[in-house]
Amino acid sequence: MSPWKAAQPGDDAGAIDTPALVLDLDAFERNLQRMADALRGTKVRLRAHAKSHKCPEIAKRQVALGAVGICCQKVSEAAVFADAGIADILVTNQVMGEAKLRRLAPLARKARIGVLVDDALQVQPLAAAAQAHDVTLDVYVEVDVGAHRCGVAPGEAAARLARDIAAAPGLRFAGLQCYHGPAQHLRTPVERKAAIDSACDAATRSHKAIEACGIAVERITGAGTGSFVNERDSGVFDEIQAGSYIFLDRDYGDNTRGPNDVAFEHALFVRTTVMSRATDAFAIVDAGLKASSVDSGMPTVWQRPDLRYAKAADEHGVIATADAGALALGDVLHLVPGHCDPTVNLYDELVCVRAGRVEALWPIAARGALL
Ligand code: PLP
Ligand code: MN
Repeated sequence: MSPWKAAQPGDDAGAIDTPALVLDLDAFERNLQRMADALRGTKVRLRAHAKSHKCPEIAKRQVALGAVGICCQKVSEAAVFADAGIADILVTNQVMGEAKLRRLAPLARKARIGVLVDDALQVQPLAAAAQAHDVTLDVYVEVDVGAHRCGVAPGEAAARLARDIAAAPGLRFAGLQCYHGPAQHLRTPVERKAAIDSACDAATRSHKAIEACGIAVERITGAGTGSFVNERDSGVFDEIQAGSYIFLDRDYGDNTRGPNDVAFEHALFVRTTVMSRATDAFAIVDAGLKASSVDSGMPTVWQRPDLRYAKAADEHGVIATADAGALALGDVLHLVPGHCDPTVNLYDELVCVRAGRVEALWPIAARGALL
């Protein structure tokens, strides 16, 4: 980690060095509040996905506004949040291998820890690790509700696995993971609703098959920023795992919003400087793909529809402009990243800005936590 910081608290926001990951605190807080409002009065709770931010300061604010806790994808991320005092953590992943299980189990002394399984072979090693550390782990059956990534087939296969978990010492069958990833970025609300209707059907069939074995299904969890209003209104889901809603990246901005959808706003920006104007057709900025991930497409230039971020190299970004006079050497731009999660993972801290000042630097403490 470089000891250099882009800014210090109290600095003028106009003096932040680049590239820097800037959080607009007012917009971020409005997004937090919009999610809390969207769930208020329902039986559905937020279990915020911390893969998006990897930042304990943010997790604490989500819990303060009513989140039951967080989810994360990696055991090493869970360790960071457990150390930061987050009391309820679900690793929304299968955890394979002794090295990981040895690290996962003791976390259950600091926090309630949940984990997913989608194969009978995963159950015994989890039980052994829980027993070796004298803890209980919450275990969820992951059901393939349409994403075709991980997860057992809905119905009987889910019930067989639930029975194995319920019978295993050290494990508590906690419910079903029913996340539909590809549904999140279906562009229209009608397509997203159709995908989640089908996910709900798969979840309900699994729920019924498990109850028919005399095992209670305490919780059905899933959903993301794109689809969550559907899971919220389904009567099937108990928890919403949205993550990106706090930042709203460009890819999510490209979804069209229906009347039920929540109007989250862009709050995360990559601040960048024009460092070369060697030709009239292009301006070169100091934020390339090591500053803003391009797996979900190029960033856009905030409040500059006349500019197009055309291409990303490692440390160079190419801005195309029809008007050669539109950008000068030293100009500062703010990019809306294509995909927030991998972009956040490129930085050591969020530079939090309000009313033209740097209010705080929040460590992205689980940055690079890959194990
Ligand atoms: N839950 C799981 C298991 C995920 O993998 C993801 C994102 O990939 C989410 C929830 C939702 O995240 P987001 O709201 O950022 O789309
Ligand atoms: Mn993502």
